Amino acid sequence: MARIYNFSAGPAAIPKAVLEKAKYELLDFKGAGMSVMEISHRSREFTEVLERAEANLRTLMNIPDHYKVLFLQGGASSQFAMVPLNLFGKTKKADYINTGQWSKKAIAEAKRFGTVRVVASSDDKVFNYIPEINNGMFDPEADYVHITTNNTIYGTTFPEIPDTGKVPLVADMSSNILGQAYDVRKFGLIYAGAQKNIGPAGLTVVIIRENLAGKAMDITPVMFNYQIHIDNGSRYNTPPSFAVYMAGLVFEWLINLGGVKVIEKINREKAALLYDFLDNSKLFRATVSGPDRSIMNVPFILPSDELNEKFIREASEDGLKTLKGHRTVGGMRASIYNAMPREGVLALVEFMKKFELSNS
Ligand SMILES: *Cc1c(COP(=O)(O)O)cnc(C)c1O
Repeated sequence: MARIYNFSAGPAAIPKAVLEKAKYELLDFKGAGMSVMEISHRSREFTEVLERAEANLRTLMNIPDHYKVLFLQGGASSQFAMVPLNLFGKTKKADYINTGQWSKKAIAEAKRFGTVRVVASSDDKVFNYIPEINNGMFDPEADYVHITTNNTIYGTTFPEIPDTGKVPLVADMSSNILGQAYDVRKFGLIYAGAQKNIGPAGLTVVIIRENLAGKAMDITPVMFNYQIHIDNGSRYNTPPSFAVYMAGLVFEWLINLGGVKVIEKINREKAALLYDFLDNSKLFRATVSGPDRSIMNVPFILPSDELNEKFIREASEDGLKTLKGHRTVGGMRASIYNAMPREGVLALVEFMKKFELSNS
């Protein structure tokens, strides 16, 4: 069986070494005589899996002790509601920056529970840039400010993390967590669905500064209360145990590789290979320019829909899969998360060169 290069935005590629280890351990997890999927989430074996995953994530992101790490379900989309339900305390006001579809959904959800102000937006240009941010924009009375660090659909990333002063900054980091280094201290809360850069779908990682939990609104369902999950060590109910195990393997893989700074350098090189080609091409064009470009998701287009379709079809036949762009942007998108090897990006650029020669 030949493995292809998978450029999907999510569920996305998982490192081959991780899949091989999971396969090796699948029928008999460390001598238990059963799969990790079949083991009680309160067993000694699974406790070790959970604790090691947390310890390794703490190492990778340099998470300070006064932050809690939670392994939850419900995807990043549940966090769109969980954040306001837990953080709307004093004024029930929040400032959001609208940089794409995911931000929009987060805004719509927060509006159910309090007063939301959109302080900046890039809606006017199909979200192909990150709006100008200055500290004076933020309401000092707001309960929090919300951003999406990397915009998966449009291929933009905040070049700098805004300084929100005393107001806690909340970040949807679903598509670039562990892909580039961030100082966790700049954030009050970080959340991420796992299926982009962490592991299989079904797991949601939350990193929350301790003092932000425990003040949930009265209407908050138990399963949506951070404090409940903190008090129960992410095991108030059955956690997505296999996804946690897989995430743990990915964390180990990343630590063995040298950590986030090392992978960030590799990711920047991978992205540069693609952007350099796009910037010099007479046929292809990147839809985002300048310092807001994402190193995780690279959208690009050809001069016509016919050519876009032809490219996607022929690339797929060549083993370069899931390059179709999001329906709101069109064209192509290459998602090149941590698990995409440099060889995959080189293969894509080679294919694009050939395509340009035979189609211009
Ligand atoms: C994929 C994605 C989401 C949605 O995640 P789910 O886990 O499917 O809810 C939210 N935000 C961003 C930035 C994403 O990339």
